[in-house]
Amino acid sequence: MRECFEVRDTDAGGRIGELTVPRADVTVETPALLPVINPNLDTISPRRLATEFGAEILITNSYIIHGDDTLHERALEEGLHELLDFPGAIMTDSGSFQLSEYGEIDVTTEEILAFQHEIGSDIATPVDIPTPPDVSHERAEADLETTQERLEIAEAADTGEMLVSAPVQGSTYPDLRERAGRHADGTELDVFPVGAVVPLMNDYRYDDMIDVVAAAKRGLGADAPVHLFGAGHPMMFALAVAMGCDLFDSAAYALYARDDRYLTVRGTRQLADLEYLPCSCAICTAYSPDELRALPDDERESELAAHNLHVTFAEIRRIKEAIRAGNLLELVEQRARAHPTMLDGYRTLLDHAAQLERSDPVSKGSFFYTSHESARRPEVVRHHERLERLSVPDSLLLTEGDSPRSDEFDDSWRVEPPFGPFPRTLSRSYPLTAEVPERTDRAALEAAADGVARLVDANPDTAVTIAHRGWPAGVLERVPDSVDLVDLQSDDGR
Ligand SMILES: [Zn+2]
Repeated sequence: MRECFEVRDTDAGGRIGELTVPRADVTVETPALLPVINPNLDTISPRRLATEFGAEILITNSYIIHGDDTLHERALEEGLHELLDFPGAIMTDSGSFQLSEYGEIDVTTEEILAFQHEIGSDIATPVDIPTPPDVSHERAEADLETTQERLEIAEAADTGEMLVSAPVQGSTYPDLRERAGRHADGTELDVFPVGAVVPLMNDYRYDDMIDVVAAAKRGLGADAPVHLFGAGHPMMFALAVAMGCDLFDSAAYALYARDDRYLTVRGTRQLADLEYLPCSCAICTAYSPDELRALPDDERESELAAHNLHVTFAEIRRIKEAIRAGNLLELVEQRARAHPTMLDGYRTLLDHAAQLERSDPVSKGSFFYTSHESARRPEVVRHHERLERLSVPDSLLLTEGDSPRSDEFDDSWRVEPPFGPFPRTLSRSYPLTAEVPERTDRAALEAAADGVARLVDANPDTAVTIAHRGWPAGVLERVPDSVDLVDLQSDDGR
């Protein structure tokens, strides 16, 4: 077990956890948002972040402080917590972003780690190489080797109680991301940022983002706290949490405010376009859109940033509550409807349902079938796997109708979309208690037919009959030929 991180509750790949930050003497509950503070200008002061927004942790850039004579001196003299006036945990970045933007920086990993330690950072970052998406495999691999060398330097450095992060790189190559995750997990380092995903998010490539995170997670193992580096839009938090991300950092709240952009969980709006403010935070209830637009630039930027932060923190709380209630995937389904690329992200998440199934709780409160994507949820995957292990009699009726009165069959099981067949004794156990719409869709029927096929394939000597309510021919094609078919809706049905 990693000593600094404990998982308390899970749902799909998402978890509520506790990140212990010894140097700050603070325990941060995850999923957590780290507002980004630019040490040169704060749109919202760190003290306000703590008192007004409940921020337990923030992130700032040690490279900027290192390179600015005044800040450098003050940080060494007063310490980072005094300098920023923040009572919670402070994570620092290392200049890797500047490296990716400008091609070079003037510090080494040893120097910047020592500096982060000296100024009192609680979670430090080595200088990794953020390889952009879609470069050649060769380059991504070479960059990764450099990053891994830096992690080994960081591991050997004397950093005391300070936690140190181990960024996971590898561009858009799942094999490299997985290898990077495994290597990082094998170090003594503490927090695991999945790096260089910002270009993917800027291009709305949520499908690729999910593949990258899924690969990193396969390498990292279940007890590693994962930070999605540079991800600050609340629209995609639920999706990323469901794939197993625990920490997010937001510069978006301030950057967007500077451009008069208003964050919502369904996307970004221009303040100029808003006739109503669809939010009930302190800002949105105090102003009309016209009043907000009429404010002086500085004030408007600060008020918009405050709204953006309120929305962002509220979504984090909503996600935690969804994990507690066991309906995180229902929340992800709602968010997936906000933008077609989010839907691609959710469908990609479901490509990894077997991976998610390993952390998904066996029992939850409810399973709501709310879209045809629900047919691919981890619970359905798990039920299909379980079907292979259930013992069956010599002859078995699977029926959507009532139990037969005759003793023509040794036993009769229920069959229900999207799960497929199950013994009646399981009908009150999760997820078979699912709420499914009356108007069953094709995806649910196909998943049920696949369940029948799994059961039949695992028990070739059992004579199986299925009594269905008018399943279309294309769905029945998924059922093995050996199965007798009875249509309950036709005249000769029983
Ligand atoms: Zn608001």
